[in-house]
Amino acid sequence: MERAERKGLTRRGALASAAALGLAGPVRAADLPLSGRSVQGGFLFGRARPGAEVRLDDTVAQAAPSGLFVIGFDRDAAPSATLEVRGGADAFVRALAIERGAFPEQRIDGLPPQTVEPTDPAVLERIRRETEVKAAAFASIAPGDDFRDGFAWPLSEVRVTSAWGSQRILNGTPARPHYGLDMAAPVGAPIRAPAPGLVVLAEPDMHFEGGITAIDHGQGLISIYLHQSAQAVRAGDRVARGQLIGAVGKTGRATGPHLCWRMKWRGRNLDPSLMVGARAPA
Ligand SMILES: [Zn+2]
Repeated sequence: MERAERKGLTRRGALASAAALGLAGPVRAADLPLSGRSVQGGFLFGRARPGAEVRLDDTVAQAAPSGLFVIGFDRDAAPSATLEVRGGADAFVRALAIERGAFPEQRIDGLPPQTVEPTDPAVLERIRRETEVKAAAFASIAPGDDFRDGFAWPLSEVRVTSAWGSQRILNGTPARPHYGLDMAAPVGAPIRAPAPGLVVLAEPDMHFEGGITAIDHGQGLISIYLHQSAQAVRAGDRVARGQLIGAVGKTGRATGPHLCWRMKWRGRNLDPSLMVGARAPA
């Protein structure tokens, strides 16, 4: 019955009508394996045809040559999203329900005012320049699927001091949410690549971030490490899982030694801890 119905429609027609009807179910769900969790700050890994077009609402991405793809959900993602995957003769539309995340409020006082609300023109110019450098690095889209085996913790001992997504109040003023996961560790503690990838940024001294490294794990899934006291890799290096990339520090806007671990996917900020232990579908 289902087969007969499908035969009567072109693939594109079936896709268009499914979208028009706002179908809340999968189209041939068994053929679009997904893993991960659709929650604010979370992600899904999927398997489609090699190079398939992957569309999450307005964001257009691609599957790697292996067919694996990743999509991510912002901290403030709406309660639902539409995933469309097209490759070869296949076309899938899936309505995704996005769970709400729980984001605590965090007050930090005693930060030097120039690091919270800089007014010095030289500092503002430096921040502008560094914003451009970061934007160029975060726009990287490496073609592979280095995310396929998931992520390990970048530190050997994990002591989270600030959960991802906290609403920050800096020196009494509400600031942007904190898109990092802070882990306390002594200065010099080794930071290791949690998955293989391509280093797209390694800067020793940025105004807010201090020593910062960013790694593209494929398809624009980028992990970021802040406040480092030393760096062991350069932009353009390939790193293996477990490879030393730098050392914990308190450089940039930091009140003490810690690693601020961040993750981005095509402009969206993700919670890296949700990647730990995850695996792409077989
Ligand atoms: Zn942080």
